[in-house]
Amino acid sequence: MTAGGRQCDDCTLCCKVMAIEELEKPASSWCPHCKPGRGCLIYPNRPSECQSFKCLWLVNDQLDQRWKPNKSKLVLTTSDDGIEIRCDPGFPDAWRKDPFRSEIYEWAVSGETHDVTVVVIVGQRMVLVTPDREFDLGVVQPDERIVREFEGSRIVNASVVKASDLEHEENERRRI
Ligand code: SF4
Ligand code: SF4
Repeated sequence: MTAGGRQCDDCTLCCKVMAIEELEKPASSWCPHCKPGRGCLIYPNRPSECQSFKCLWLVNDQLDQRWKPNKSKLVLTTSDDGIEIRCDPGFPDAWRKDPFRSEIYEWAVSGETHDVTVVVIVGQRMVLVTPDREFDLGVVQPDERIVREFEGSRIVNASVVKASDLEHEENERRRI
């Protein structure tokens, strides 16, 4: 796997931390086709999800070598809402070590201004990081969404609700 000037080389961490729907591979466990540190045993026939996947370190030179996933134990991606930081479950506190923690908090500060969420995922648990505090959201299912409450631009609360309930509320609001 390559992108720009960077290559995965000896990193295979996304094959552990990411869920792969096509293979029904859950997050946080090694893909049976992965030879950790070496690569994919079915590379020419790997699922399309794997073919299109690029972590942020691979494509963003601003993340220096310390952020290389197999060194940092962190795989960074973007979502519709912001930045997701997946921790290798074998190193659940990796994100709390510097320089990672400081940088993650800097993203949380600018995220609050620009409405970008910063979420750390350890195993199945999600933690929303804000400049003032961390919201441990527990296990967030694919059909659930994080709802934030604001005072001005400051996040004062966060909860998890079913996406279908949100849609229902939105439809009700439109009716009023
Ligand atoms: S986590 Fe990033 S650098 Fe590591 S194998 Fe996956 S895409 Fe490559
Ligand atoms: S199929 Fe290959 S690229 Fe995809 S998760 Fe498994 S080992 Fe990684």
